[in-house]
Amino acid sequence: MQLRYQYRVYPTPGQQDLLARSFGCARVVFNDALRARQDAYAAGVTLSDTDVQKQVVTAAKKAPERVWLSEVASVVLVQACQDARRAYRNWFDSMSGKRKGRKVGAPRFRSRKDNRQAIRLTRNGCSIRPNRKLYVAKVGELKVAWSRYLPSDPSSVTIIKDAAGRYFASFVVEVDQQPLPEVDSEVGIDLGLTTFAVLSAGRVVDSPRFLRRAERTLRKAQQTLSRKEEGSNNRAKARLRVAKAHAKVADSRRNFAHQQSTVIIRDNQAVYVEDLAVSGLVRTRLAKSVHDAGWGMFTRMLEEKARRYGRAFVKIDRWFPSSQLCSACGVVDGPKPLSIREWTCPCGAVHDRDLNAAINILAAGRAERLNACGGTVSPAA
Ligand SMILES: [Zn+2]
Repeated sequence: MQLRYQYRVYPTPGQQDLLARSFGCARVVFNDALRARQDAYAAGVTLSDTDVQKQVVTAAKKAPERVWLSEVASVVLVQACQDARRAYRNWFDSMSGKRKGRKVGAPRFRSRKDNRQAIRLTRNGCSIRPNRKLYVAKVGELKVAWSRYLPSDPSSVTIIKDAAGRYFASFVVEVDQQPLPEVDSEVGIDLGLTTFAVLSAGRVVDSPRFLRRAERTLRKAQQTLSRKEEGSNNRAKARLRVAKAHAKVADSRRNFAHQQSTVIIRDNQAVYVEDLAVSGLVRTRLAKSVHDAGWGMFTRMLEEKARRYGRAFVKIDRWFPSSQLCSACGVVDGPKPLSIREWTCPCGAVHDRDLNAAINILAAGRAERLNACGGTVSPAA
């Protein structure tokens, strides 16, 4: 299976200039390729992938207004061209129904002001040198902070610059599955708003204090930014401070999600979560805070680790009232506002809202898994 491994890199000021040039050229080629495809489509002309590449890379390099494209590695330009092709295809297939799943929007043109600047290279344009530096064509050898062991030779690398001005190398590597010894326990997880998560066995996972502190710093930085005058120097400084605070929150969140997902996968043979795209919460005004809480990232980590370590991962993908259903008697007791943390079912059972939901998710997940295995059990809901 393929996984992404990301490391911080520290380019010298000279290398930063060269990277900036590569980011710029990749952006221009991406936009040119997108425009070429749109124009061809509007004119009813079919344009092959090779045609597009010839037009926006090979021919463009000879044009006076694009001659600077030759200053960067051509693999970067070719990959940008392919990124545009994939974005366009995904959108097209999504519209025609060929691509399943969530609708993909029309590809957006890239801008110099985007929060994330990136180039993608294949083995043609990058390699890890014996001195452990990462060689990138036309940029040089970059210093990498190897924070964890890279399990195999990468087939491609993306160099990223984020809004906080940090650089990263993101590798795609092939890793072996490493099934863990089987265990008996299974778990349903209710992702919460007041707490990070509640597990069906009763464990409450709170957001750690360092994360809450980072979030507070971010809020303050955002307030300061909103008070600065448009276009002023101070505003630019405040914006960078917000970006840095943002990056810190994102990092803390990712680390925390990694720790938690590792423990959950280690301790359980099967993990069940609600698919948030269909859960009641996301359709409400809470949508923003839901995304902020990083649930998507967390469930993706669980899914990936389950696959890697031989555990079952099931998303309950139909809507079911996990917080209205009594996990003791099965009665649906009607909707409950989020402020209600505890309720008593007519059957006499007293429920903690989130724990009850987690237990229901466990039951529904088990039923769904049995069905998928050819069993005949119907979901309790
Ligand atoms: Zn009941």
